[in-house]
Amino acid sequence: MTATVRKKHFSLAKSRRLIQWLVVIGTFIIGLRHILPGEASRGGSFDSFCAFGGIETLLPYLFTGHTLKSTNLLNFSVLLGTLGVALVAGRAFCGWLCPLGAVQDFVTEWTRKLLGEKRHVRGRRSKIILPLRLPASLDRPLRYAKYLTLAVILVASLSMVFPPLREFCLVRAVFSLKMTSLLWFTLVVFLAGSILVERFWCKYFCPLGATLAIFNKISPVRLIMENNHCNNCGRCDIECSMDIADVPHHLDHPECVRCMECLNTCAREGSLELKIG
Ligand code: SF4
Ligand code: SF4
Repeated sequence: MTATVRKKHFSLAKSRRLIQWLVVIGTFIIGLRHILPGEASRGGSFDSFCAFGGIETLLPYLFTGHTLKSTNLLNFSVLLGTLGVALVAGRAFCGWLCPLGAVQDFVTEWTRKLLGEKRHVRGRRSKIILPLRLPASLDRPLRYAKYLTLAVILVASLSMVFPPLREFCLVRAVFSLKMTSLLWFTLVVFLAGSILVERFWCKYFCPLGATLAIFNKISPVRLIMENNHCNNCGRCDIECSMDIADVPHHLDHPECVRCMECLNTCAREGSLELKIG
């Protein structure tokens, strides 16, 4: 089945922001449940709600039949749900459903508001202080760091008792409400990084993003240029939080988080479109 959905039919940006807020609030509630005494704190550890926990505990489970401590079979269910979303819509999990992606987007938005900055003025990239855009010579190699992180974690998981990322887990640092000095350190680095570079964790270090990247090539829900009505105005490049260059010609780029902000900003009928099927 092939169908195209035109952007003017609904506000993708508003829907996405609403969903991101719901995800953030929902994750805080999960965090809150685990610091409350008694019944409310039951229902599995905070870690067991994590999709990446499913990846961290996968190899130990396959080899020994036991999950790592603080994870359980619920991690595999959450992971399967995340992979299901990726199978249908690529890294849309990152753009729409990940609580860390949402927090990074909020931090960038609030930083811009504080500094009185806009992404573009009359279709051109504004001169801004923050967020920074790293030079290509640094940005390009750093983009591979997340794949290295993933490989190291998979190997390390075979000899660990707890998930390898646990002591530095960003989701615990931001949402678990049970802090250690390492988690405070992680939180400060994460917030500082997010102020300095838009979606810095997603671009450079997130092992779950690395896992989902491949699905952009095969998912049926994706952006396309059906008719070549694009006039190369560059608005989509300016809008892209992942700093993908020449967006119209890289619509299945592994870095694309399917946020649809490029589609939202495109003013040319018949250029970018959302394709299903
Ligand atoms: S790259 Fe990682 S942190 Fe960023 S949105 Fe995707 S899963 Fe979340
Ligand atoms: S290419 Fe478009 S959909 Fe993909 S991350 Fe950039 S703005 Fe979002």
